[in-house]
Amino acid sequence: MTDHISIEQLRKFAEDYVKAEKTRIPSGGWWQSPLMVSAAIDGRFDDLPRIAAEDHLLPRDLLSTARSVIVFFIPFVKALVKENKKGDRPCRDWGLAYVETNDFIGRLSQAIAGLLAEHGYESGLTPATHNFDDVKLMARWSHKHLAHLSNLGRFGVHRLLITPTGCAGRLGSLVTDADLGDNPLIETEDACLLKAGKECGQCIKACPVSALSESGFDRRACWDRLLENIESLEYFSDLPESTHVCGKCAALMPCSFKNPVVNLKKR
Ligand code: SF4
Ligand code: SF4
Repeated sequence: MTDHISIEQLRKFAEDYVKAEKTRIPSGGWWQSPLMVSAAIDGRFDDLPRIAAEDHLLPRDLLSTARSVIVFFIPFVKALVKENKKGDRPCRDWGLAYVETNDFIGRLSQAIAGLLAEHGYESGLTPATHNFDDVKLMARWSHKHLAHLSNLGRFGVHRLLITPTGCAGRLGSLVTDADLGDNPLIETEDACLLKAGKECGQCIKACPVSALSESGFDRRACWDRLLENIESLEYFSDLPESTHVCGKCAALMPCSFKNPVVNLKKR
């Protein structure tokens, strides 16, 4: 037996979950209110192996009866993003927030699956990260590409997803056999100023290893920097080896906390 559940109920549940977590953990929480979209599983997801990685999983590889993809974005608080702006290396809190957010995304995904189960629906989950091929430097389940196809945001020149509340945060996703339909949030075809034909390129200038350009991304240079950070920074020595962070291209950019293309259109 199943009973109806809507995207509004799921969004409210995720918002309350983030609020409750903020009071629970010692840091007081790194997060602002989350965004969530759903998308009906249709032919658009067949494109994942072409646009993301050859061996990218399809939504029904996670759950054969799945009908919807759910993707959420948890924006970081501005103070954390501001703190990470300084210097060429990520700050201690950026690394800590990465670790705690990955754990939190796992728990939030489980909790959403639990709520769906109470309504009689099944879910399929993957970890927030570490489904990653470190030779090809591609994820086999890319929350970013799922978020793009589900219209939560658009890719910026920095290869991050720019949502209506920006790019400084982290994504999670799951699939379910609940029929939630399409509930997009992005309002514009592009959300990156440069891609929309305006001046910017601030992320390109901010990258300490020149991995970004308007037309390309040196994935290897970026990855090597992330490895170097966890291996060499003394103040990361107690964090897991998998703390692969930098974040300079997301720190205090025009797209850090909003979709800057929306504001252009309103002018
Ligand atoms: S900083 Fe500018 S160029 Fe880079 S992704 Fe954001 S809007 Fe695009
Ligand atoms: S995460 Fe760091 S190294 Fe990678 S592209 Fe962004 S600024 Fe460059």
